[in-house]
Amino acid sequence: MQRHIQHGPINLDTPIRFNDALPDEVDIVVIGGGIVGVSSALFLANAGFSVSLMEKGRIACEQSSRNWGWIRQHGRDADELPIMMHASRLWEELDAATSGKTAFKRGGIMYLASTRAQMDKRESWLEIAKQHQLDTRILTADQVAEHIQQGEGAHKWIGATYTPSDGRAEPWQAVPALCGLAQAKGVTVTENCAVRAFEVTNGNLQSVVTEKGNIKCGQAVLAAGTWSSLLLQRHGVSIPQLSVRSSVSATAPMPEIFGGNAGDETMAFRRRADGGYNISISAQHDLYIGPGVLRHVLKWLPVASKHWRDTRFRSNAPQNYPDHWKTNRTWAEDETSPFERMRVLDPKPDTSKNETLRQAFAARFPQLGKPTLTHSWAGMIDAMPDIVPIVDRVPAIDGVILVTGMSGHGFGIGPGFGEIVAKIAARNPTGFEMDRFRFSRFSDGSKLRPGPSI
Ligand SMILES: Cc1cc2nc3c(=O)[nH]c(=O)nc-3n(C[C@H](O)[C@H](O)[C@H](O)COP(=O)(O)OP(=O)(O)OC[C@H]3O[C@@H](n4cnc5c(N)ncnc54)[C@H](O)[C@@H]3O)c2cc1C
Repeated sequence: MQRHIQHGPINLDTPIRFNDALPDEVDIVVIGGGIVGVSSALFLANAGFSVSLMEKGRIACEQSSRNWGWIRQHGRDADELPIMMHASRLWEELDAATSGKTAFKRGGIMYLASTRAQMDKRESWLEIAKQHQLDTRILTADQVAEHIQQGEGAHKWIGATYTPSDGRAEPWQAVPALCGLAQAKGVTVTENCAVRAFEVTNGNLQSVVTEKGNIKCGQAVLAAGTWSSLLLQRHGVSIPQLSVRSSVSATAPMPEIFGGNAGDETMAFRRRADGGYNISISAQHDLYIGPGVLRHVLKWLPVASKHWRDTRFRSNAPQNYPDHWKTNRTWAEDETSPFERMRVLDPKPDTSKNETLRQAFAARFPQLGKPTLTHSWAGMIDAMPDIVPIVDRVPAIDGVILVTGMSGHGFGIGPGFGEIVAKIAARNPTGFEMDRFRFSRFSDGSKLRPGPSI
């Protein structure tokens, strides 16, 4: 993998940027320096809490720098949509507060349809958009052509659904910029420092145990992405979180054919700030079979049966992955934890579909031809069986707030949940209906209601 290109995974060869000394005591420790942990730390600091943010590798080194960069309201789960609409406004404010470093831009998101059946499926979501006065609308083939420039003989779409107020940002630079903002508000941020455990007495959180010492705290926010379930498992708490690999490729800069983000049944693309495109095969991911998959298979059956075509099953995860057979599930506080053994989860991308991707791009934009792909990367997407996250207190450990399982769409909504976390920590009303995101839904006998796909 080429690491020096200025988009995609964080460049691990650059010097550590956030290296604050560990405080002895804070109000709240945030675990994980992805978009969710960083946003939580920022809003917690705004709310007046003293905060320490711990990241085992580098800020945004996992999913939060590897994603497509879509800030998407379009096609959201009905309960996520109000939070996402609010998050979209927050992105605007955060971009201003970072002097444009997030590169947030509203260029719209278009879900393109090549067949009537696909169009019907896309249109079926419009009722949810209407309920929330979102600006999503249906486009005919001619209207699509007014937005997306296609050359002679191009693949034709019969229509699309389109949300002009949707946007994008450059993940690899946005999250470190937001972290800089949090640090300027007083958050101590320490990269290369894994949290190994919670110190708990009589069910109450006392401190967070890191590889560099303990931090006393009244509360902790667990925003560790794909690693959250492993840390909880050490404390006897089970959540049915699984992870899938998803791969992305970047094109060299080329003329603008559409300034926003779009996808059809084959390919998704978005214009980057440097004039290139991030392109991916739509809805395709790899699931490595491990003990977590076997343990939670029944909970996953409803969604798996709906999306099995998008999933390729792999027999075994590479060593030290969270759900590898030999990854430790228990360890002592003074022992190297699995989080230190894998500072940065950097999956090898699946490049076997790159030629298909180039052909699909050229079929849609023959005037541009097959694009030059400068590089490819992958990320492990953490997901819950109903494709919406858990954002709630952990019942078994008083003081721990869990915000994880973003299910493939946490970049855009991250600031929204970050602000909600600060309200939960302060025991204030969140202003949103949060029942859908409750911790207990996987164990209280209620029927899971799968949201839209990852
Ligand atoms: C290829 C791909 C495309 C995607 N496209 C989009 C998109 O277009 N739009 C969108 O909204 N979402 C998208 N997503 C999903 C989005 O990236 C994630 O939902 C989001 O980044 C999750 O953020 P997070 O902070 O929860 O987790 P992460 O970004 O994974 O961050 C968790 C962090 O916690 C750290 N950590 C873990 N354990 C510990 C520990 N014990 N101690 C200290 N630190 C720890 C990790 O090192 C990591 O940096 C995509 C994801 C991928 C992989």
